[in-house]
Amino acid sequence: MKKLQQMILNLSLKAKWTLTVGATIFISYAIISIVLFIALQTWLLHNEEKNAMRTVDDITGFFESQDSTVTIQQLQNNTALMKAILNQEQTVRIFNFDGVEVIRINDVMRAAPFPQKTEDYFTTTIKQQKVETTDAFVVHKIVKIGPFQGIMQLIHPLTAFHAMLKYILTTIIIVGLGALLFSVSISYYLANYLIKPLVQLRDAMIDVRKRGFSAQPPFNYQADDEIGDLLTMYRSMMNELEISFTKQQQFVADASHELRTPIQVIEGHLSLIKRWGKDDPEVFSEALDTSLKEIVRMKKMIEELLQLARREEVDGNAMADLELVLKNVKQELFQLHPNVQFECDVIGQKSLASITEQAAAQIFRNILSNGIRYNDKEPKIQLSIHYTELAIIVTIRDNGMGISEKHLPYIFDRFYRVDEARTNHIGGTGLGLSISKMLAEKYQMEIEVKSSVNDGTSFILNFPLK
Ligand code: ADP
Repeated sequence: MKKLQQMILNLSLKAKWTLTVGATIFISYAIISIVLFIALQTWLLHNEEKNAMRTVDDITGFFESQDSTVTIQQLQNNTALMKAILNQEQTVRIFNFDGVEVIRINDVMRAAPFPQKTEDYFTTTIKQQKVETTDAFVVHKIVKIGPFQGIMQLIHPLTAFHAMLKYILTTIIIVGLGALLFSVSISYYLANYLIKPLVQLRDAMIDVRKRGFSAQPPFNYQADDEIGDLLTMYRSMMNELEISFTKQQQFVADASHELRTPIQVIEGHLSLIKRWGKDDPEVFSEALDTSLKEIVRMKKMIEELLQLARREEVDGNAMADLELVLKNVKQELFQLHPNVQFECDVIGQKSLASITEQAAAQIFRNILSNGIRYNDKEPKIQLSIHYTELAIIVTIRDNGMGISEKHLPYIFDRFYRVDEARTNHIGGTGLGLSISKMLAEKYQMEIEVKSSVNDGTSFILNFPLK
């Protein structure tokens, strides 16, 4: 049993479908046919019984309508009228009480044995029994013909009834087989039609596994049903996977490329020390300084890369007091750049932003330190916090060197630097703003930039309220 179960389980989806539909139709048809057949058989048999009893009644009626002086001989000579009452298959015999046959109407079958019990002679009995080899209804009844009294025996063969049943059974079987064949072929065709896109999907997956994302065959299934939805989902999932896979590859390529530069610089300076540094303390000290600077930049880059790669869960309950966060970041930066001037405006009723304090501090730190670092003048930063009903708008405006229009769309890209030589000198990695953008996307906030060269840059941060 378990083996059969396992075998059915291992069948292909198409075979399972066809088998299930075939079996269901066959079982339903068989049940309906059996019920119908039994009902029909009972009804036909009852009809045959009624026919036999009707003939007995007709014959009895005929005898009763005869003159009371009629003799057996007279009737023997005139059986034609009685024959008309019977149908061709039936046979009627009249016996006297000694069992001697006195009248016979039709002679289709031989006489049947008399009932065993004597009391049965005095009532009308009908029994289904075998006469010779034929199934028949046999009726026994006491009759009175003039002064004569005897026993009438009617044999009503069931040959036509059995022939009819056989015919019905054959028809049921033939129609059933035809219906089964038809339903199995239809379900096979349907299974084939519906499973084809799934097979295509499986093959497509195998292809993608073997040959990568470039191997994506088109599906020609157009219907807007569950399978259509599945294929659309698969396609969009594959596209997303491909985009994320390409992004990841790009990320690794960019990161390795960016890390190679400081390593090369350090390598160059170490060789310099090896060759001349022992004798020239000035070269030694300068090479060591540059190497250390590069190591610090590399460390910063690695930390920032890790921050970008780390996809932490969004804290849905996070709340931050942006005024407080800005105050702390300002103090932090003031330690490093004591010459910075901060101006701060607050408008509206204070509310809390849906972001963690760390994330908000990170965004502010990146933007504020850029305003200080990319600045040729005495750095002056204007801050404004505007509380509205729908959002908190924070504007950070610096008096720095500004960003030209052609660079502006790319400053949030990873490793993008407007002026590489200058950024390297400043110690930038090109990752600060991309980290800010990543955090902004995570907490569903927006960052807008306006800038003009030599006239400073404004970052407008929109923290929507829940
Ligand atoms: P980095 O970490 O190197 O500073 P960012 O992603 O923070 O990188 O910035 C990308 C580039 O955008 C910088 O190299 C710089 O040229 C430019 N930039 C960013 N902010 C400012 C600003 N306030 N003023 C002028 N240039 C800026």
